[in-house]
Amino acid sequence: MTLPGWPAGEQHYGVMERYVALCADLGWGSSGVRPAGGRRFGGAVFGMGSDTRRCGLLVRRRDIGPVNGARGAYPLLALRPRWPAAVAGWPLGVFCVSTSRGDVAITYDDGPHPVQTNRILDVLSEFGAKATFFVMAPLAAAHQEVVRRIVADGHEVGLHGETHRSLLSLTNREVIASLRRSKEQVEDAAGVAVTLFRPPYGHHSLTHGLAVRALGMRMILWSALADDWIDVPAEVVASRAIEGLYPGSILLLHDNRADPETLQPGEFLPTFERSAVLRGILNHLQTEGYRSVTVSELTARHRPVKSVDRRFMDRRAAARTW
Ligand SMILES: [Zn+2]
Repeated sequence: MTLPGWPAGEQHYGVMERYVALCADLGWGSSGVRPAGGRRFGGAVFGMGSDTRRCGLLVRRRDIGPVNGARGAYPLLALRPRWPAAVAGWPLGVFCVSTSRGDVAITYDDGPHPVQTNRILDVLSEFGAKATFFVMAPLAAAHQEVVRRIVADGHEVGLHGETHRSLLSLTNREVIASLRRSKEQVEDAAGVAVTLFRPPYGHHSLTHGLAVRALGMRMILWSALADDWIDVPAEVVASRAIEGLYPGSILLLHDNRADPETLQPGEFLPTFERSAVLRGILNHLQTEGYRSVTVSELTARHRPVKSVDRRFMDRRAAARTW
């Protein structure tokens, strides 16, 4: 696949491919992004929630054609052509970094889990790999020894929230109070400052982003996931994860499932061995010469990507560092 106006060597290229595929998958017209259309790619992807069919993907309205009756199924916010530079400083989620080096970040959500998280930590130590754990505050308090081990092993602890409810279902006042409370709870459990936050389902608004920033955290999303919240064989989960990796990607995995009540008919809670999934992924990364680092190391070493709009990125890069 070639996208007009984008050098093939650009490493966020994988994101664009996914964006184009996603538009096709959603049945959106995508004249602005369709490679065969001969037009420059112009979309701006700010983040993908786990449920991309409903929300989390923000693009410029002019870059999307008719929505095939799926009105309301897309952007909470449609950016006008001149807006990208203005939104550069918006505290929206980081979903990958721009790099040609084989650095990726493996992240775990919904834990800690007294059994699975420890097994995952064992495998990480074996490979000398680092990961980031976005924990649920009540679970962190209940399993403080696991959280302490995460920190002692050189990994990173981030906040995933107090409950697993979408922030969009809460009032802003509730969100802010909950973020403040749960951040403190996790910091008490971990014994270190928490500087990263990942919203449940990736759902967030600009106001939430401002609150997260005001509380000294950065919002982190993901660029690859493995659908590991339902039961499928470990090797299937691992190959899905591997398929989504590219230099600079942030991989979302789970060491627990915090929202079993959302299980759909015909789905079953995971019984596969999560550490076996990780072993498969780390074996692959080793073969490819990739390195798994914490999210903070990834974002400190490489330019975080909140948008795949090139002009937006270039301007922002020229204007400031973050
Ligand atoms: Zn979650």
